Amino acid sequence: MKRTIEQVDVSGKRILMRVDFNVPLQDGVITDDRRIIMSLPSIRSVLDRGGSVTLMSHLGRPKGEGYESQYSLKPVAKRLEELLDTPVHFGDDDPDAEVVLLENVRFDAGEKTGSTSFSEKLAMLGDIYCNDAFGTAHRNHASMVGVPQLMEGKPCVAGLLLASELEYLGDAIEHAENPFVAVLGGIKVSDKMDAIKHLLGKVDIILIGGAMAYTFLVATGKEVGNSLVERDRIQDAKEMLDAAAVSSTELRLPHDHVCAQQIVKGTSVQVTNDPIPEGWMGVDIGPETQSKYTSTLLHAKTIVWNGPMGAFETSPFDEGTRQVAEAIAKATTNGAVSIVGGGDSAAAISAFELDAQITHISTGGGASLQMLEGKSFKSVELLDNPL
Ligand code: ADP
Ligand code: MG
Repeated sequence: MKRTIEQVDVSGKRILMRVDFNVPLQDGVITDDRRIIMSLPSIRSVLDRGGSVTLMSHLGRPKGEGYESQYSLKPVAKRLEELLDTPVHFGDDDPDAEVVLLENVRFDAGEKTGSTSFSEKLAMLGDIYCNDAFGTAHRNHASMVGVPQLMEGKPCVAGLLLASELEYLGDAIEHAENPFVAVLGGIKVSDKMDAIKHLLGKVDIILIGGAMAYTFLVATGKEVGNSLVERDRIQDAKEMLDAAAVSSTELRLPHDHVCAQQIVKGTSVQVTNDPIPEGWMGVDIGPETQSKYTSTLLHAKTIVWNGPMGAFETSPFDEGTRQVAEAIAKATTNGAVSIVGGGDSAAAISAFELDAQITHISTGGGASLQMLEGKSFKSVELLDNPL
């Protein structure tokens, strides 16, 4: 655990806070303000105790050659002002303003290169550094690692969002109550290989679904028709299955499949055990697998989920993902701790309106996956330990 913003005296101090305001925009309008809302507790914690904040964030992928209007944080400043019900001074520093939001840090090439001169310019702006940008925690950028190295003994603390992500994705997983079940799915086995490797020996059962199941099934000698397979990962998948066989973790693969010839609504569908016929692809876990996976989940005390079970954006191929999501929600209601990471998995939970029944839904796709891989982040290591 790290020292948090709540554990430091902020009265009369200016807090230089790195947040993740990388919100989706369409024609200058914010289409989802959740990231702004998630940062409010840390900001309010400072303002309520008589401190002021200078906020910094990136937005999108500007070239790093100066201002580009489509990547300006100006719409965020306006939305933040409404949410906080406090004026927000936007664009540059203002020592008299209670809340300042700097312009997109990535307009300066020094952000991504972690340049010392850019870090120095930022570090000068605060008496205390606070990192609340979990979504960027795995990036060694100036505002993430350059600045805390230049604070010259001033406090460097975790924001409340970052602290809760670290608590659930780090501590809760390392000290999980059993039975501990991981559900791993999604599009590519290559994305999740390191997470599987790290979880072997830590979790009791890994349930595999999604397109990545087919690379594993090919590795066991099954025929999978047109299903998505990463040919160059079949050998890795074989080695993973061998490693699982001699570990304390049971790795389960789906044994029936909802198959289609194309992923479009209204297309004809068949359910098969193996082999999947030529011309057909597995687009969701089948009904038998669904019921086996859900009964396993209902007995779990700790659940980690990353990656949908099928092409859930297209009905009826959302059924496996829905069954798994509902089982996780139910297990949580009965006392399990559930942790969901991955952008698409979080979107599925929202689409099924189960958000409130999950213990922790991570806000950072890439960063949460790296935590499941057991990686640690320099941006976090640089923060103070609790006093
Ligand atoms: P997350 O963002 O939760 O980590 P991924 O990005 O790895 O998840 O994978 C999500 C995507 O995988 C979704 O777009 C989903 O449609 C797709 N997907 C899952 N299973 C299949 C499948 N069997 N065939 C094709 N696409 C699939
Ligand atoms: Mg994704």
